[in-house]
Amino acid sequence: MLIDIVFQDRRSRLAARHPQPERSYPACVSNIVVMKFGGTSVADADRIKRAARRIVERREGGANVVAVLSARGKTTDELIAMAQEVSAAPDPREMDMLLSTGERISCALCAMAIRDLGHRAISLTGSQAGIVTDSWHTSARIIEVRADRVKEALEEDHIVLVAGFQGVSTVTQDVTTLGRGGSDTTAVAVAAELGAEVCEIYTDVPGVFSADPRVVPDARKLDAVTYEEMLEMSSSGAGVLQLRSVEYARNHGVRIHCRSSFDDRPGTLVVSEGENMDPAERPIVSAVTHSTSEAIVKLVDVRHRPGMAARIFTALAEAGVEVDMIDQGPPTGELAQIAITIPRDRMRDARAALDPLTGEVFAELVPDENVGKVSIVGAGMRTYPGVAAKMFNVLAAEGLNLDMITTSPIRISSVIPRERVESVVRALHAAFELSGPDTIRVEETFERQGVE
Ligand code: ASP
Ligand code: MG
Repeated sequence: MLIDIVFQDRRSRLAARHPQPERSYPACVSNIVVMKFGGTSVADADRIKRAARRIVERREGGANVVAVLSARGKTTDELIAMAQEVSAAPDPREMDMLLSTGERISCALCAMAIRDLGHRAISLTGSQAGIVTDSWHTSARIIEVRADRVKEALEEDHIVLVAGFQGVSTVTQDVTTLGRGGSDTTAVAVAAELGAEVCEIYTDVPGVFSADPRVVPDARKLDAVTYEEMLEMSSSGAGVLQLRSVEYARNHGVRIHCRSSFDDRPGTLVVSEGENMDPAERPIVSAVTHSTSEAIVKLVDVRHRPGMAARIFTALAEAGVEVDMIDQGPPTGELAQIAITIPRDRMRDARAALDPLTGEVFAELVPDENVGKVSIVGAGMRTYPGVAAKMFNVLAAEGLNLDMITTSPIRISSVIPRERVESVVRALHAAFELSGPDTIRVEETFERQGVE
């Protein structure tokens, strides 16, 4: 099958680029496949049983299966709401104790269902599975995977269910969680440590699309995207894979196959540049992404002195506020204007971090929460002139003032008023002719539940 050929080819190239330490697994534990199921794919008893059957099919096909599961349906949102009912600012350590339960429920239930299908299965918490993280509660990073227990269980012919989205800090011995969408990163990290053939991300959409199909009905499923494109897409709003999982996959050479849990069709491969893609056929622009979860922090009249930006960004970093775009024009006299985009739900933390600098570093902090971001992403953009011109012509035709613009070699993003985001995404998707003859309509395959 095409995918297998591509993967074999990729394996040797990636092994050369990312040499892995020698592994000493017994011969019986090769051919490992990691299958990750998102929340919608395990939302109720029928779906858990369906996931269990899918896992068992893979096992009966000869693979050693480690399955990483998300919390069921809206469980994580409900747990967050429960915390907010009892506390205005829930303690982060206790938040992680609470949130990590959702994934454990899914894994225990799925293990039961697999056992009923006549296979050996064992569920493990993130901690039991050896997911070691830093101590940054609610958004911890995986430092290491100590997979001895997983390997032993595989050797004993178990299907191993690993609770996604969580780990343990070996410094504090406390349970941590990895940030929203973190089960993707659990799956990739486990796949990297086990040298898995592939990390399959089973989700409620058939793969990665040229735009969010809820916004653009004729968005096209992409057969393959490069790690770099996927990184840009994840960081600019595509919800299908957690950004950190893509970073981890690229750094460790993990093959990702993002596909539907509701049918057998191949989904989207995340590949290295040049693989599985004929450069002549590669589109200049692969996707239009958008995000409505950002806000702008405008810092008015920043003193034009060495060290001012350092103080601003150190304060934000210490508060753990992730900064996306940064804009500063040439200063006028002694003063400069800086604008920064951050996740909107971090505005309170950003203000708390920056308010003490008012007067000394800048004159005033002006938040703008009524913004959104549209981006175009494509590895082919690097070598084609005129892409920016086309994008800005589309935005001009929409009559928009652009609040901020940033670029990378393969992405152009613009901040615009939030209420215009969806129509602009549709206009850009049409202008770059991204829908194609092989468009898969999401509603053809199943009833959509929202990106996991
Ligand atoms: N359950 C967690 C969330 O909703 C993690 C995940 O699903 O990946 O964010
Ligand atoms: Mg997800």
